[in-house]
Amino acid sequence: MLITHDTRCALDTVVDLVNTAPEDDAAADGLADVAALDDFVRNHKVSEIGTLSEFDLSAVRRIRGRFAAIFEAPDARTAAGLINDLVAAAGTTPRLTDHDGYDWHVHYFAPGASLSDHLAADCGMALAFFVVAGEQERLRRCEAPDCRRAFVDLSRNRSRRYCDSRTCGNRLHVAAYRARRKEAAG
Ligand SMILES: [Zn+2]
Ligand SMILES: [Zn+2]
Repeated sequence: MLITHDTRCALDTVVDLVNTAPEDDAAADGLADVAALDDFVRNHKVSEIGTLSEFDLSAVRRIRGRFAAIFEAPDARTAAGLINDLVAAAGTTPRLTDHDGYDWHVHYFAPGASLSDHLAADCGMALAFFVVAGEQERLRRCEAPDCRRAFVDLSRNRSRRYCDSRTCGNRLHVAAYRARRKEAAG
């Protein structure tokens, strides 16, 4: 499937957003305060965002949970329902733009939208394209048992299993290798 630059940016943003969630109650939240949210917005070059508040922080944390559910959806119909709810609640005003030197692309968020509505509309639509293309399975969670980070599998044959093959993939290979050696030695 063809993935345009802006869709790619929206995908990177939503994956990173989902992965800021603490893995368990003991872990730190990647969006601990408004300053962290500010950094997130700057790092992901989210356009047309004004001054952020505690309200934005709690709203973004809320949609983060809803995006996480989309990456866990067992099938396209479930994902479609979740995406529809998310995008409908955000409200959209599709319009063409070539801001900041980018090629023409569509912004979905309404002008003046809050950060959470902006993310829900544009990242929600980026995920919607995967359902439309019959590629919903590419929205995944890492298969390493202690990881579960979200990622988008953009490999040709949808074969990617880990969020990062150098860390999670490699760690599991080493564990399997050690287990085999132990078995052979025992
Ligand atoms: Zn844009
Ligand atoms: Zn992982």
